[in-house]
Amino acid sequence: MFNLEALKFVNDVEKECLPIFTKLEEICLYNQKKMLNAFRDANVNLSDIASSTGYGNDDRARVKLSEVYARVFGAETGIVSPLITSGTHGLTIALFGILRPDDIMFSVTGKPYDTLIDVIFGEGIGSLKDFKVRYEDVDLIDNDFDYKLIETRMKELNPRMVYVQRSRGYTSRESLSVEKIEKLIKFVKNIKPDVLVMVDNCYGEFVEMKEPSDVGADIMVGSLIKNAGGGIAPTGAYIVGTNYAIEQISSRFIAPSIGLEVGSYAGSYTPFFQGCFIAPHVVLNALKGNILFGRVAEKLGMSSLPKFGDMPHDIVRTIEFGNADRLVEFCRIIQKLSPVDSAVVPYPWDMPGYNDQVIMAAGAFVQGSSIELSADGPLREPYVGYMQGGVTYEHVKIVAIEFAESYLTSK
Ligand SMILES: *Cc1c(COP(=O)(O)O)cnc(C)c1O
Repeated sequence: MFNLEALKFVNDVEKECLPIFTKLEEICLYNQKKMLNAFRDANVNLSDIASSTGYGNDDRARVKLSEVYARVFGAETGIVSPLITSGTHGLTIALFGILRPDDIMFSVTGKPYDTLIDVIFGEGIGSLKDFKVRYEDVDLIDNDFDYKLIETRMKELNPRMVYVQRSRGYTSRESLSVEKIEKLIKFVKNIKPDVLVMVDNCYGEFVEMKEPSDVGADIMVGSLIKNAGGGIAPTGAYIVGTNYAIEQISSRFIAPSIGLEVGSYAGSYTPFFQGCFIAPHVVLNALKGNILFGRVAEKLGMSSLPKFGDMPHDIVRTIEFGNADRLVEFCRIIQKLSPVDSAVVPYPWDMPGYNDQVIMAAGAFVQGSSIELSADGPLREPYVGYMQGGVTYEHVKIVAIEFAESYLTSK
């Protein structure tokens, strides 16, 4: 069933990983207790988990689901809805909910994630820029905030919003710890107490014991087809934060003065509640797979982030392949060992918005889900593959064995 050399190789690597797994299990235990408490404190009853139609004025599932997420993330309140299509949609609603003409959005983690570029700078398509919202940014230095420059620019610009992206997106920087984000929030609030801090928390949920909203973020957004939906939520995103911020954002999400009074979903809410409940454990599985795979790649001679021994701050793993063939082969192994679409062979293609060809592997039950095992990478030097997810650890381990085999047998 397995190549014995590769199996032994990966089993040996796994032994090295056990101390890190133990630490991740402690984090998961804590987060699972937080989650259980959130469900109990919100008094979720089976009779609450019912679908609704039309305006959905009396949709208790919508209200309770939002309450559970707000509680588990340490926020005052939140919006959690299948009506939010994606992380990008959630981030867009939040930005447009808060920012007004002449306001400044000040990103302190450099340029935001690719899909937000047109939301911010697009010409004549209803972007923030079209609505006269200004944008400024400061890059990270040495994987941390550039405090000096942030202070100078804060004083010059007097921004309405400070924007933080926790995960790395398609850049080579490391993801940010909640500890670093907490320090940043204190720092900017000390300069301008009424500034609103918004955090793109995609891929970061349940990786640590705290979330940015536990440590003072006014607005935090993430996707339900990544960590926060536990691999079960079929779509959606969450926006949590302070009462003030969420009220502003709910006016943009639905309509001014109507806000969160309405919102129906005729499908089943069950997978949203179940996915939320198991999310800490699913993230644990993805993280264990991530650590194992990273160490396997390192042992086979590739450089990979996060480095072995460093605790992760998101579920993304990067592996530097150094040549196109190896990157393509990696994506094909992941596709081939997927539960669905396993017969599909991925090829690099010209994806709109990218200068280089991109290859993607995804054999997921939920289309586009990246809490399920998935990988991609642009075909350019140094040929870096991005890998994330894996709802079961064993699935990722099986892929790691086949990946190791492809190297060990081609020596
Ligand atoms: C995935 C992601 C997004 C966008 O989410 P979609 O659901 O794909 O629209 C935004 N920011 C970061 C850092 C992400 O990883």
